[in-house]
Amino acid sequence: MKIEESKNSGFILVDCLSCGNLYEIADFRNDQFANVVSNILEQDRTCPACEMRKALDESAEEDRKKKERTAQNLPELVKKSGIPVNYSHDRNTGELFAKPPVYFTAQWFWLNRHSHLLLSGETGCGKSTSACFVAAKLLLEEKKIRYTSLRRLLADWRSAKTSDQSYAAEKMLSDLFGQDIVIIDEVIGKARVSSSGEELLFEILESVNCGSCHARIWLLGNFYSGSIEDTFSDPAPVRRRLQENFICAFADKKTQKIERLTVWQE
Ligand SMILES: [Zn+2]
Repeated sequence: MKIEESKNSGFILVDCLSCGNLYEIADFRNDQFANVVSNILEQDRTCPACEMRKALDESAEEDRKKKERTAQNLPELVKKSGIPVNYSHDRNTGELFAKPPVYFTAQWFWLNRHSHLLLSGETGCGKSTSACFVAAKLLLEEKKIRYTSLRRLLADWRSAKTSDQSYAAEKMLSDLFGQDIVIIDEVIGKARVSSSGEELLFEILESVNCGSCHARIWLLGNFYSGSIEDTFSDPAPVRRRLQENFICAFADKKTQKIERLTVWQE
């Protein structure tokens, strides 16, 4: 071990075993345990700069391992999030989509992933596959994702409300709102939503509106002008909440463009 005097009294300089630079430590030479300290230093002398680099390297390595584990678990995570197999896997290869099946729609979801979204469009414009593709990418970043159709969500809601468990419905909602992204597909169907369905949808929109919903809500469906009126017996507050909190858009299959949509207009 190389030892030099320091300008600062009570300190000495020793050489780092990693980089060889001198660094300052308290002068131990007259201590009671000088021998012990000296023995330790013979084996382990790391300057603050090397210590920091080591710590950073270790955390980068830890990050890399964690990412690798998540990537290995991705198929399982996709399944657990409720994303259907046909919205996340290539039909021919059976593998998870490596590229989005419909690029322009996936790009829109990715760019707007931090917002509440409403995307309309006819079948084949890639609403569901694109939302699920982006969701799978976000699963890799350890985001919590839930995919459900409105019909499925309503069924869960009804069974929670009639369950013997106390607060089952509240628990269901707080679990939903605690996700990072909730994709609700097939929001606009042929049939009018039941009154309990209206209640649930409004509860979600209201929680978004007042900020108690942590999750970003992505609503997908083939919305048409008047669909809010057809779906809700009291459409005005629904329209207002969509207008104030959601980016609403239409995926145009013909032009391959996403156009802003004003679903709230009468
Ligand atoms: Zn060093």
